[in-house]
Amino acid sequence: MRNAKIAIVGGGCAGLTAAITLAKQGWEISLFEASSALGGRARSVRLKNTTTHALDNGQHILIGAYSETLQLLATLGVSEKQSFLRLSFSLLMLTQSLSRLKIETSAYLPTPLAMLIGLLLCQGLKFSERLAAIGMVLRLNFKAYRIALDLPLADFLRQQGQSKNTIDLLWEPISLAALNTPIELASTQVFLNVLKDTMASSFDLSLRKNSDFLLAKQDLSKLISEPASAYLKRHGVDIKIKQRITAISKSDDGYRLIGAEGQDMFSHVVLATAAHNAGQLMVGFAELQAELAVLAKFSYQPIYTVYLQYPTGTRLAHPMIGLANGLGQWVFDRGQLCQQNGLLAVVISGAGRHQKWTHEQLSQAVELELKHSFPNLGEPLWHKVIAEKRATYACTPDLARPPQKTALPNLYLAGDYTYANYPATIEGAVRSGLACAALIGANA
Ligand SMILES: Cc1cc2nc3c(=O)[nH]c(=O)nc-3n(C[C@H](O)[C@H](O)[C@H](O)COP(=O)(O)OP(=O)(O)OC[C@H]3O[C@@H](n4cnc5c(N)ncnc54)[C@H](O)[C@@H]3O)c2cc1C
Repeated sequence: MRNAKIAIVGGGCAGLTAAITLAKQGWEISLFEASSALGGRARSVRLKNTTTHALDNGQHILIGAYSETLQLLATLGVSEKQSFLRLSFSLLMLTQSLSRLKIETSAYLPTPLAMLIGLLLCQGLKFSERLAAIGMVLRLNFKAYRIALDLPLADFLRQQGQSKNTIDLLWEPISLAALNTPIELASTQVFLNVLKDTMASSFDLSLRKNSDFLLAKQDLSKLISEPASAYLKRHGVDIKIKQRITAISKSDDGYRLIGAEGQDMFSHVVLATAAHNAGQLMVGFAELQAELAVLAKFSYQPIYTVYLQYPTGTRLAHPMIGLANGLGQWVFDRGQLCQQNGLLAVVISGAGRHQKWTHEQLSQAVELELKHSFPNLGEPLWHKVIAEKRATYACTPDLARPPQKTALPNLYLAGDYTYANYPATIEGAVRSGLACAALIGANA
């Protein structure tokens, strides 16, 4: 054990990753989590009177390019085969006028080629629209997915000659799922970063799987926080749940956490909360004005998930189907994913008129949309809306992110918002946790 004591504030993916990495190296660690369970924004929620299964706070999709998340899960002993349905990149989008877009890619070709052929053969776009999409991808490949000046994605797509139809059916759904920010506001550069990792601009066949979708076959807590918690306990980490840290004080002896049980002093603190919570904890320190100024520019976007339980025989044609031009954007068949037969999860990313509605009104509107798209659906037995009002920060053009190392010695920031290349994702959170652990190790 080293002569240092690390406090990690926040038990989401970032805090868990930092704790796992540092625990493996033998540091003494206490992890403080405000809520009654670990997992943060990627967790399961058990609801009364709905189901014996847990629901996720929101349907999470991973992609093959999430290399660090997959590596972390492997460290925790989570078997990818048992835990995920891995699908080659394919899209099925249904519109309210009952037209559809369908793209399928071959699993045997290198990604750029598979994508280009997938676009060329896709159903639902005119030939000229397919050529314009292919042209844009080729130009992006040529420029290594970099643009000189960041701008809202909607403007970029129009400049690139993408039609309204292509934007509505192809780029907007992908962008909303990845950035959770309406395309009129979303950062083009961050979208391109994700596209680049997904499409792997090289013809290296080993990167072929970067564009796969990984859909969880079990609830999020079983996938991430429960194995992480077991791992941390085995490695001697002191996990303290229901302990909200309300302030941090600093003296020559180190840091003290206000709100924590006991009077322990810590040599290092990792603030692994969401951005707005981190700002509240940093407010007292004059040294952190630069970080606070960056955080003051953040705004947030919601994600609503409408769960509708249909009779158990209900099954969609695919586990994940896009819904364009309506309220719902994606529908997931949780029967095909995690044996929650008949349970459909409809995701609505980003701000919209639905935020003003009651959950009852929203469920009814989504139910009607589903009935329109899938006329054979029966009547739902129950519904439940989970509204994450600050699901992610808005990923807007040129949004500055605070680095993991702060101006205060041994005080670090972890969290999806600190990983500047990516939008708010599990992978961004995991990478930020790894970066913090590396900084602590390097300065030890
Ligand atoms: C509905 C929804 C759907 C999403 N879909 C996807 C997806 O498909 N793919 C994807 O990759 N990502 C998705 N995300 C984003 C992903 O969940 C987040 O980016 C990631 O979980 C963030 O992890 P984090 O550790 O940075 O922050 P958090 O998960 O927010 O963890 C911070 C933790 O700190 C705790 N905390 C806060 N303040 C204090 C305090 N004062 N004291 C102690 N503890 C405190 C919180 O309770 C929380 O547990 C989605 C998010 C939501 C909400």
